[in-house]
Amino acid sequence: MKNLRSLFPVICGMSLVACAQVAEPDKADVQHTPLPASVEKITSAAAEQTPVAAPMLTQADFTACLDNFTTKAKAAGISPKTINNSLAKAELNTQVLQLDRKQPEFTTSFADYFNRRVTEQRVAQGRTLLAKHQDLLARVEREYGVPAPYLLSFWGLETNYGSFFGNIPVIDSLATLACDPRRSHFFTIELINALRILDEGAIAPEKMKGSWAGAMGHVQFMPSAFLQNAVDFDGDRKRDLWNSTPDAMASAGKFLQSLGWQSNGSWGREVKLPKDFPFLEAGLKNSKPVSEWAALGVTRADNTPLPHANITASLLVPSGHEGPAFLVYDNFNVIMRWNRSEFYAIAVGQLADQISGGGKLFQSPPENVPRLHRDQVIALQQQLNNKGFNTGTPDGILGPATRRALSEFQHKQGMIADGFPGTEVLGLLGIKVETLKH
Ligand code: CA
Repeated sequence: MKNLRSLFPVICGMSLVACAQVAEPDKADVQHTPLPASVEKITSAAAEQTPVAAPMLTQADFTACLDNFTTKAKAAGISPKTINNSLAKAELNTQVLQLDRKQPEFTTSFADYFNRRVTEQRVAQGRTLLAKHQDLLARVEREYGVPAPYLLSFWGLETNYGSFFGNIPVIDSLATLACDPRRSHFFTIELINALRILDEGAIAPEKMKGSWAGAMGHVQFMPSAFLQNAVDFDGDRKRDLWNSTPDAMASAGKFLQSLGWQSNGSWGREVKLPKDFPFLEAGLKNSKPVSEWAALGVTRADNTPLPHANITASLLVPSGHEGPAFLVYDNFNVIMRWNRSEFYAIAVGQLADQISGGGKLFQSPPENVPRLHRDQVIALQQQLNNKGFNTGTPDGILGPATRRALSEFQHKQGMIADGFPGTEVLGLLGIKVETLKH
């Protein structure tokens, strides 16, 4: 889902997903579930907003709300036909409300996230589709400057190349979420925009289905992203992101271009760190020239020197010092504007590289790492706050601020300051390791 971004600068990326993070960039990355990307985006967004214990919307509330929306839709210029054929028939979907309130119970490791998404099967299918659609993808690249492997990678991660779009009527899900007080403003805009898409005839109302949060089609655009970025690339005068691969690929290209994609740049690369690497330098916010990373002893993963490129980069260690390290460039930040998750952006980059012929990671991410329950993350945050390492208000989400505080604590203790909650540092902070689930 893209695109809440322009409306809610903090919130969103592509799928709703992104949205969540926007509101609190610090908490962005965190709790990933093995669901389609658009869904996870929304999930984390939801988790960061109002308390999950908010009362459920009742049928009576919904009915009254829908009447009110009819007035709003008319005022917004939506045709009577669309109002009668879709909005007037919207139904309350309680499953959507439950999914919106769902919070992940445990943290997800980078290994778990990555290995579920960047699979041999997905790479192989990406290569097959690269050959099958090479003319189309070349045209999209010429038009929007985004290379084919990246287009395929987004497609693969969002919907497994179109194999799962979500099957919830979009007007039902958006009307439900717009009538729910939790994020009514945001979803009201999306609902009106979804009605505009119906008005333009992009798809029949009964076929407008998507994720529970309203992300649609091959690349899971939210309605506002659709309105701004969807392209008719096959010339049938319809912007059809459900049934037209050309439209979907061109729309993804246009959206990435609008986010600032640099046509000659890559996303980043896996690198190797020296044994004495100063891990306090890690983190997306610390950007410096590639030459300075090289001076710190960073090399390519195969031990060869980094390229002499005049670009800045940040260094990420998503599973701590025992896992792979990545040097990431400007296009990495573009990917994170689509979905504000570092895990997602690394997966996009790696899948694109492997589709275009690259190999697997040199350093596999460790799998046997503590899986922290939400309550344990809160205890970790409280402990760090008590000791003067500020994590913000404890919320159970292991975001960048918590990782930063943890790395500073580790540094003070003379430990490797990778900001990763391993068993040793958890023990030092009194977090009961025997309760960790592996
Ligand atoms: Ca079309």
